[in-house]
Amino acid sequence: MTGPSPRDDIRAMSGYHSPQVEVAVRLNTNESPFPPPTAWVEELAAVAGRTAWNRYPDREATGLRAVIASRHGVEPGNIFVANGSNEVLQTIMLAYGGAGRTVATFEPTYQMYAQIARVTGATVVSGERRDDHTLDAREVRRVVSEHSPSITMLCNPNNPTGTVEPRANLEALLGATDALVVVDEAYAEFSEWSAVPMVNQHPNLVVTRTFSKTLSLAALRVGYAIAPAAVVEALSVAVLPYHLDAFKQAATMAALGHVAEMNERVAVICSERRRIEEGLGALGLEVFPSGANFVLFRTDDAPAVWNGLLAEGVLVRDCSGWDRLAGCLRVTVGSGEENGIFLGALGRVLAGVRG
Ligand code: PMP
Repeated sequence: MTGPSPRDDIRAMSGYHSPQVEVAVRLNTNESPFPPPTAWVEELAAVAGRTAWNRYPDREATGLRAVIASRHGVEPGNIFVANGSNEVLQTIMLAYGGAGRTVATFEPTYQMYAQIARVTGATVVSGERRDDHTLDAREVRRVVSEHSPSITMLCNPNNPTGTVEPRANLEALLGATDALVVVDEAYAEFSEWSAVPMVNQHPNLVVTRTFSKTLSLAALRVGYAIAPAAVVEALSVAVLPYHLDAFKQAATMAALGHVAEMNERVAVICSERRRIEEGLGALGLEVFPSGANFVLFRTDDAPAVWNGLLAEGVLVRDCSGWDRLAGCLRVTVGSGEENGIFLGALGRVLAGVRG
């Protein structure tokens, strides 16, 4: 007996997998190496105790949106919160993408854009980055004028390449289309500039952020969009009712009381990133300059290097099988100790691979 058939296009998709292997040094999913502040963890029992567990949560997440809004100098009506920025992106695609519509990405970029767009039934068109992964404003204009996408995705800094997007590319994009432009700023805190101050000048600009990276809360699953109020209203229609549980709303508000402490770690990560970039360069590898908490580099034999690192107890991301990323591995910036272990292990592995 065969089971029920999913949609043909869903069956053809492979999903998004990052192998979760138990190793001593996990540098594969761009998380923060630091746990959240102990004071916040200690507050959580009280937060749970205050939660009205028999009631549905505040559907509008009024308190949380107000706190996030004040952090960015916008109105609560400009904030949409969901379970991780992936759910924010999915909601955007449900409301503005879907069947009969087109979503544009500039490859290589975060694979979930194309994946979520296809799941919602949209057609995906890809613009191309140059070999060094930078993007040309002419290419941005070409994609928009040839395909008239309903949503165009920019990732700044770009995952998995680390590339900081020049502001001119966003300006070119906003000059070329009135349709939705999404700037995914999952790694903005590690970078040079943000599009957030531009949101209120453009009725079609949305910026997405996450608590998973700088704020050390990947396990909590919280992300948000800063967007024109009309866009937030459309997202609220597309998302499920009560999607954001009451404990999460309160725990996230409590976490925002510790932002200063979490932000202090950004400087540590950025200086460790420089150390990794220099270490990789000293090993004779091609390194792509990064504005994020990870570094992409190229080796002659990526699977052998990936396996060699794993044998040394270090897990990085093997991107070498992805289109346009032949030979590439991506390492997340870990703690100083972890980065030292990674660089030492990589030196030994390369010596073995190079013979
Ligand atoms: N955008 C980008 C560019 C990412 O790299 C990630 C995390 N891998 C996300 C969004 C999703 O993050 P989260 O759902 O944890 O907020």
